[in-house]
Amino acid sequence: MGDRLAASLAARGLSTVQDLWFLLPLRYEDRTRLTAIADLRSGEPAQVEGTVEAVERGFRYRPMLRVAVGDGSHRTVVLRFFHFRAAQVAQFRPGVRLRCFGTPRPGQHGLEIVHPSYRVLAADEDPALGESLDPVYPSIEGVGPATLRKLIGQALEKLPPAEALELLPHGTPGLAGLPGLRESLLVLHRPAPGEDLAALGAGTHPAQRRLALEELLAHHLGLRRQRLAQQQLRARALDGPGELARRLRAQLPFALTGAQQRVYQQVRADLARPSPMQRLVQGDVGSGKTVVAALAATLAVEQGGQVALAAPTELLAEQHLANLRAWLEPLGIRVAWLAGKVTGKARAAALADVASGAAQVVVGTHALMQEGVAFHDLVLVIVDEQHRFGVQQRLALRDKGPAHGHVPHQLVMTATPIPRTLAMTAYADLDVSAIDELPPGRTPVQTVAVSADRRPELVERIRVACAEGRQVYWVCTLIEEAEEPGKGQGPGLQAQAAERTFEQLTAQLPGVRVGLVHGRMKASGKQAAMRAFKDGHTDLLVATTVIEVGVDVPNASLMIIENAERLGLAQLHQLRGRVGRGAAASSCVLLYQPPLSATARQRLDVLRRTGDGFVIAEEDLKLRGPGELLGTRQTGLAAFRIADLARDADLLPKVHQLADRLLTSAPDVADRVIARWIGGAARYAGA
Ligand code: ADP
Ligand code: MG
Repeated sequence: MGDRLAASLAARGLSTVQDLWFLLPLRYEDRTRLTAIADLRSGEPAQVEGTVEAVERGFRYRPMLRVAVGDGSHRTVVLRFFHFRAAQVAQFRPGVRLRCFGTPRPGQHGLEIVHPSYRVLAADEDPALGESLDPVYPSIEGVGPATLRKLIGQALEKLPPAEALELLPHGTPGLAGLPGLRESLLVLHRPAPGEDLAALGAGTHPAQRRLALEELLAHHLGLRRQRLAQQQLRARALDGPGELARRLRAQLPFALTGAQQRVYQQVRADLARPSPMQRLVQGDVGSGKTVVAALAATLAVEQGGQVALAAPTELLAEQHLANLRAWLEPLGIRVAWLAGKVTGKARAAALADVASGAAQVVVGTHALMQEGVAFHDLVLVIVDEQHRFGVQQRLALRDKGPAHGHVPHQLVMTATPIPRTLAMTAYADLDVSAIDELPPGRTPVQTVAVSADRRPELVERIRVACAEGRQVYWVCTLIEEAEEPGKGQGPGLQAQAAERTFEQLTAQLPGVRVGLVHGRMKASGKQAAMRAFKDGHTDLLVATTVIEVGVDVPNASLMIIENAERLGLAQLHQLRGRVGRGAAASSCVLLYQPPLSATARQRLDVLRRTGDGFVIAEEDLKLRGPGELLGTRQTGLAAFRIADLARDADLLPKVHQLADRLLTSAPDVADRVIARWIGGAARYAGA
């Protein structure tokens, strides 16, 4: 092939024949049969043959060409074109025979097909029907679809015999009942007319399952390899007597929950080893992750090391700072503060304390990860809400550890639990612990979904709540209009919505002290508003989603979330976690704009039914799919070519089993599986 073509393919990570085998069709078109026009069904792609009965060219709003085609049955179908050339118009004369393919939809006069693919047939021409379903490949810039089909066809001619292609040993569990790799590839590139198009469309065809299994295996093996490499690294063993931790626990106004104790023991055991801990702690909002992090920090400090704790927002970081100072300073531990807004002399002083080791614990935001922040002896890195950071940022912090061949231990925390099977795949490079128990005395948050027309009732409810001395959040979310180009971005519009709501509610609720916090305010203003609410100087806080993480106001027991139907389950769950933190019975009102779509209704129902973050995560996985749940940013997983973590979740236990077997008994095969699937993906990502 020519250089230009080769370059276009290479730009998509396609540089070997093998890469082409694994470039799979997005969908299929069935040209193996003809459908009578009378049998056409809206939304079902079909091939028809017929004679042009009428042609109409219009210019009403934009150029348009409509061609009525009949096949002797009692119905006609209209082909409609919005883009066309004069030569095309000339082709469509009444009486001309056409064969065309497309998806019929209801039009003005019966069914019509917009921009069908078609060919004009000569009077006596009767071309053979296709022998297999036509694959439709992803479009690649600079490579026409016909060329791509031809190239893939040529590549498939070079497919080696089944045994040579198969990497997974015969009798591999999980492969039973699935076709071999060679057969699977052939079925997917050239499905026979009888193949189950519905299954292919849904991604549940056995050939797709076979490939998905191998792809999931490759990703899982890749992460396991990464983890094995991590374990070769050395870290300071933090195996002191735990005296500071003991004193911290003695001084807490509460006893740890069983789950906190268990997770703390896991962390402590990890830290005692001379290889770096890589642990993810999942725990619902309010489950008490911070105190576990603080206990871990004391173990590092006890051994003379430093600890960095990073949080994604300034508010959250400040709250950690306040907690850690309250808990650790009585033990003689110095806690420094480093955030974007710390500048000038204060910043220089903090940097100096961190560099000299005078500050044993440093709390901050992304600012911690910047160049110019040097540690004396960083042995433990704690990252809260780690999904809000990129993998690169996490690594940047880790790289601030001591130079002499040691890396810091890593503890990452998230309040967005993900289902266990998914965690094993997405975080195969991490150990996962769950704090799956809330501290005692919390009452579940009662959740209702209410249509926005009932807003006046809510205002009354707020008035009553505030009169009883309770505090209320009103969360404004507004995302849609941000799409207007050039106009304000999402946060700006959210801020405007919050300001409007603030004014309205202030007018409607005389006697209620209303506060406002949004992302467009200065950090000091945000801080002051949050503090006023926390200290009980305001009763009602109108906020944007900036309050999503971190804020802890136990007296707040009512939350109203506007436009709840537009938010994802995880985010709603996080927001709702701001209430129900004290002993009072709390409620959350999900205000929606009717009409609700079916999925939005399902989402809101899930929240009404359960407050368990793990259950919500499972539901979220079903409703949204793992792509949105995890995001490549979060996991470092490259996008899958064929697998879908939600759809193929049932394959994961087999994948994990198989990975164990390969890693112990056939590591060379594991390498080849990784190379086959991830080698190409890595090139993709680099392109
Ligand atoms: P999250 O897991 O959401 O980060 P936090 O660490 O902020 O939760 O804890 C939420 C609140 O619960 C804090 O006020 C914290 O002091 C309190 N808390 C933590 N553990 C316990 C416990 N075992 N018993 C009672 N309260 C606790
Ligand atoms: Mg937290």
